[in-house]
Amino acid sequence: MLLRLQRQIAPAEWQAVEAVARDLGYSFEFLGDRRDLVQLTRVADAIGEAGPDHLARFGDLSGVIGILDPGDVRELWKGPIGAAPTVVEARGARFGGGAVSIIAGPCAVEDESRLLQVAQSVAARGATLFRGGAYKPRTSPYSFQGLGAPGLEMLGAVREVTQLGIITEVLDPRDVDAVAQIADVVQVGARSMANYALLKELGQIDRPVLLKRGFGATVSEFLGAAEYILSGGNGQVILCERGVRGFDSVTRNLLDVGAIAHLKGATHLPVVADPSHAAGRSDLVRALGRAGLVVGADGLMIEVHPAPAEVHSDGSQAIGLGEFEALVGDAKALCDLDGRTLIAGTGQNGAAPAADGSPSGATSGDASSGVAPNSPQLSTLRGTA
Ligand code: PEP
Ligand code: MN
Repeated sequence: MLLRLQRQIAPAEWQAVEAVARDLGYSFEFLGDRRDLVQLTRVADAIGEAGPDHLARFGDLSGVIGILDPGDVRELWKGPIGAAPTVVEARGARFGGGAVSIIAGPCAVEDESRLLQVAQSVAARGATLFRGGAYKPRTSPYSFQGLGAPGLEMLGAVREVTQLGIITEVLDPRDVDAVAQIADVVQVGARSMANYALLKELGQIDRPVLLKRGFGATVSEFLGAAEYILSGGNGQVILCERGVRGFDSVTRNLLDVGAIAHLKGATHLPVVADPSHAAGRSDLVRALGRAGLVVGADGLMIEVHPAPAEVHSDGSQAIGLGEFEALVGDAKALCDLDGRTLIAGTGQNGAAPAADGSPSGATSGDASSGVAPNSPQLSTLRGTA
């Protein structure tokens, strides 16, 4: 590891650098005549592995201007040099490593029979995960906040009937277990991206997490948030770009396609594009969804509703079933162009569920344990890390 120090480093600041080096098991030498460049080398009998926390231990010191070269120490979102892409599976869905999946559903869980109807409709058109928020993060406390626990139950019922995997948002660290009982993928919304207590909690569960980028977050802050989950021991993280705040109100947000392309090169984690929250208007969702896939997204998250006038949140960006079907067709064509695979849903346009009613794409871990992904056994949810 190569550190740049302040040129006029105070003796106490230098002593702090030395103390951390000793504590973590590094020897050090100045680079040539430069008193501001320090090469740190792990000593042979140092205790423990050199981990990404070492970067912060040095980087946080006031005498250290920056880490010029982290050496072998890499954050978990970066992974080892040449790391294979991480593939996240949830029920029939698969993200990453050339697999593309479509998430679809309403913004919020509202009416149970309508929910089931939408789920069956999107499944029949190629969705592999069904979305819908039971807990809604609303800008105003007076807006519809979601149905809460009864909404989770409705999602559970939809899963029973359709065999679709469920993705739903958790807002409060205290609700993580309840949400993970129902959800095949737990969603962290844009407003919660920097809720570190929540992220730490999600690091402890054995469920994939879809982490949305905050609308004012840099890519580096986004990856730092992912690192919270990864460092807790949960390696199943999907990044989701849902648009950042721009200066123009013609769209609700700006889908940062550059960030998607960058992330696909910078990290091994799968990346999903959410054109619905980026556009904020239904007429642009298909175009932005296509754009997300063209720059390499491993999936799309789309808000779909056959009667947007009925809903309490995000009706203006919900697309209808015909438009959704067209977008899935686009996704298939774009995947074919790229040599990638659009994972087929369990509905009429995709693979049928297995004869025993289990989802065709259950993860191997679930298959080998014989435990349904959502069986209500809390002990199986909590990882050992
Ligand atoms: C949502 O997915 O409905 C949602 C609230 O999204 P975001 O957190 O991106 O605003
Ligand atoms: Mn929404």
